Amino acid sequence: MFDVDLAGAISELKRIKARVVALQVPEGLKRRAYQYAEDIEKNSGAEVVVVAEPCFGACDVPSSLFDMVDAVVHIGHSPIPSLRFGKPVIFVSAHSKVPMGDQLKKSVDMLKEPVGVLSTTPHLTELDGVVEGLESLGLKVRLGEGDGRISHAGEVLGCNYSSANSVSKEVNSYLLIGSGTFHALGVHLATGKKVVVLDPHLEDPVEIDLVKDKILRQRHAVIERAQRARTFGIIIGEKVGQRRIRRARELRKLLRWKRRDAVLIMMDKFDPEKLKSLGFDAYVSTACPRIAIDDVMMYDKPLLTPQELEIVLGVRSWENYVFDQMTEDEM
Ligand code: SF4
Repeated sequence: MFDVDLAGAISELKRIKARVVALQVPEGLKRRAYQYAEDIEKNSGAEVVVVAEPCFGACDVPSSLFDMVDAVVHIGHSPIPSLRFGKPVIFVSAHSKVPMGDQLKKSVDMLKEPVGVLSTTPHLTELDGVVEGLESLGLKVRLGEGDGRISHAGEVLGCNYSSANSVSKEVNSYLLIGSGTFHALGVHLATGKKVVVLDPHLEDPVEIDLVKDKILRQRHAVIERAQRARTFGIIIGEKVGQRRIRRARELRKLLRWKRRDAVLIMMDKFDPEKLKSLGFDAYVSTACPRIAIDDVMMYDKPLLTPQELEIVLGVRSWENYVFDQMTEDEM
């Protein structure tokens, strides 16, 4: 289902004369890590060390291995241009090969032009075809540029919707190519516009407005529970592209101003057991915004996003609820 072309990475490894290479492969392609490692070793001459730890984004590059490797080959995510690493990191895309079928035609009646076209990283190869398809069906289309965290026009990350925001005044709806509802709901909350999802694994397009209630009910319940909390742990992600120390300090200041106790916590991999043993009444994550939302059922204690904390403390209204985003200048 995914197309991975290692030729460019191999020639770059040869050019920089890399001898030892760390290979990161996303969860969905881990079973092919052996094949990729063999290909790289055979054609570049470098020794490959496969990183077994899960990797969900370009924010997560194994900097702890930098003293033993000459380079990292990172498969499956686009680079985050605003991030700088201490060693060469070669990003290799893994593009979806699932055909769109009739979904595009079916989506036309659900959209209001001009339409902002967006895609999650694995489906970027479909983007140009979808733009052309919509235009050939007579719709006006916009493709927004993102900030320094985004490397392709129209691309959205679970932590950044800047390519949607950049055209929000020009469009009346969005068409997003991607699986699941997280990114689409993030865009909908960030822009207030209708979002239709083209999920290549489904037969029909989905309008996000019709499926958002479950997630928002869950978030409302977490915020309610956190109202009673007196002590807060503010989590800073250790991963190189998730370290929002300034944001965490701002939240600590806000909490103390509102007469709550607050301490900063560093954490790499999120784990409910770690939070249980720390014993705070509630936690705020400044790391990957997806963790608090996707893993809500795993945590006994409220795990909030920064914007949810603002609602708890009365400095933001529930009507202005948005998903958390990381911007280019935060790291
Ligand atoms: S912070 Fe989360 S959403 Fe953003 S790139 Fe990393 S894993 Fe993806």
